[in-house]
Amino acid sequence: MTYVVAEPCIGVKDHACMNVCPVDCFYEAEDQLVINPDECIDCGACVPECPVEAIFPEEDLPEKWASYTEKNARPFQEGQELPTAPYREEWEAERAKPGSTAAGYYEKYSPLT
Ligand code: SF4
Ligand code: SF4
Repeated sequence: MTYVVAEPCIGVKDHACMNVCPVDCFYEAEDQLVINPDECIDCGACVPECPVEAIFPEEDLPEKWASYTEKNARPFQEGQELPTAPYREEWEAERAKPGSTAAGYYEKYSPLT
């Protein structure tokens, strides 16, 4: 089993989940964070931290987001070396810098915030 990050993370990506994960198994994909299924210990600590209810145990993932199981797992199966997600404070500090990757993320995925 594992937990899965689904569509609501896109455009939000606030990294609150990373701050509570005991094994730091959230990684930076371009449009959202993803969970490495081989590292997740199924503790559930991240679920109540997410402001948009984007994280689900794999077996409770809503059908409309079924493809997100593979979206989370595929980079690791393919051996991609995604960066470990920064903790929230680091991400926010980065976001405050014009031209940073974090600032560019919100311009692309949630330009009105
Ligand atoms: S369920 Fe636990 S181990 Fe898995 S991603 Fe969430 S906080 Fe990390
Ligand atoms: S807490 Fe939710 S919205 Fe924020 S980065 Fe994690 S999964 Fe995405």
